[in-house]
Amino acid sequence: MLTVQKYGGTSVADPDRIRAVADHIARTRRGGAEVVVVVSAMGKTTDDLLRLAREVARQPHGRELDMLLTAGERISMSLLCMALIDLGVPAVSFTGSQAGIVTDTTHGKAKILEVRGDRIREALARGAVAVVAGFQGISTDRDITTLGRGGSDTTAVALAAALGAEVCEIYTDVSGVFSADPRVVPEARKLSRVSFDEMLEMAATGGRVLALRSVEFARNHHVPIHVRSSFTWEPGTWVVEEDPTVEQAIISAVTHDTSEAKVTIAQVADRPGVAAALFRALADEAINVDMIVQNVSTAGHTDISFTVPRDDLHRALTVVAKVAADLEATGVSHDAGIARVTLVGAGMKSNPGVAARMFEVLAAEGINIEMISTSSIRISCVVAEAEVERAVRALHRAFELEAAS
Ligand code: ADP
Ligand code: ASP
Ligand code: MG
Repeated sequence: MLTVQKYGGTSVADPDRIRAVADHIARTRRGGAEVVVVVSAMGKTTDDLLRLAREVARQPHGRELDMLLTAGERISMSLLCMALIDLGVPAVSFTGSQAGIVTDTTHGKAKILEVRGDRIREALARGAVAVVAGFQGISTDRDITTLGRGGSDTTAVALAAALGAEVCEIYTDVSGVFSADPRVVPEARKLSRVSFDEMLEMAATGGRVLALRSVEFARNHHVPIHVRSSFTWEPGTWVVEEDPTVEQAIISAVTHDTSEAKVTIAQVADRPGVAAALFRALADEAINVDMIVQNVSTAGHTDISFTVPRDDLHRALTVVAKVAADLEATGVSHDAGIARVTLVGAGMKSNPGVAARMFEVLAAEGINIEMISTSSIRISCVVAEAEVERAVRALHRAFELEAAS
């Protein structure tokens, strides 16, 4: 049996934590499993490296930034191997490139194209634990790339899929996936299982316990994920295929996200091709547009609002400024002080009235809704950032998520 275990930044934040993790890996191995480990950079190392980069350059060069950031994971993988060898457990570390993780050439958010994994298989065959640096790969142009923040989760799931692991265990600083971020809602409840589809919606709307790409990968390759604590080691949350024999909770979780900003283009001409021109220009700059709202037309003109990652706001405004004239827009405004609150639940499909109830709860709190978007198992509202935590707590209470079974 093969297990992939991924340890996040807090789990390997200092020498004591690294020794505790080594000890757990040694025990897993004594239990008879082969183990492949994926590590993140220690503590806040990635943030520190990013800050350093921004101190020498206004816009750090993509290739060089990736080279820098991947150093964080090199530190933790080698230290963890030293700790394992010290316990008498044979262990070998591999960078993403050495592990055969091949990506496209998009620095900063590269996509995994292929996992070769030969050296990992060889290490396992020799009876060693393979420790792989998370969050990184080598591009088809042979440059070092990173997979985007939180990308070690994706490394772990991709390796689990490629190596045919029985489970991908994601060890972190909380004991599983909760009905809301426990830092915002202390009474949030740990979910014992959550479906891939629900987890995808959660990850896409701010539940950062798992990176979005890792969940996509797990769903596409049928890799069960077990999210659990590296502090208590207790059983956590299983992210697996939906069980059709179990009735789905109407609402499983409420998530929030403060990483986006809103752009509004006022009074654009209301004719075919306008939205196409605008969003094509943004897509060509690889800017991910999330929610889009277009107002009712008056006198042949309409307002269009959309959200983009805050990190891309500047670039988005540059693109919009260029196309605004062609669209006959009268003005462009933006707001970085927004946030999104989302209800996720597979049971929503067959239960009408969830949206109405959500809007009533926000109204009772005096919280204004700026934008709305839905899928079959999710409802999101954009609200002022200053009010989002209050919105999360109110919704968690109103839908009784602390008590759900
Ligand atoms: P790691 O460094 O281990 O990858 P992360 O910081 O990426 O850890 O993810 C764990 C954090 O995710 C938790 O500390 C918690 O605050 C946050 N989080 C947000 N939403 C949730 C949720 N619904 N359930 C559990 N944790 C959540
Ligand atoms: N160290 C990287 C980050 O902080 C990757 C990860 O932790 O998953 O984003
Ligand atoms: Mg993470």
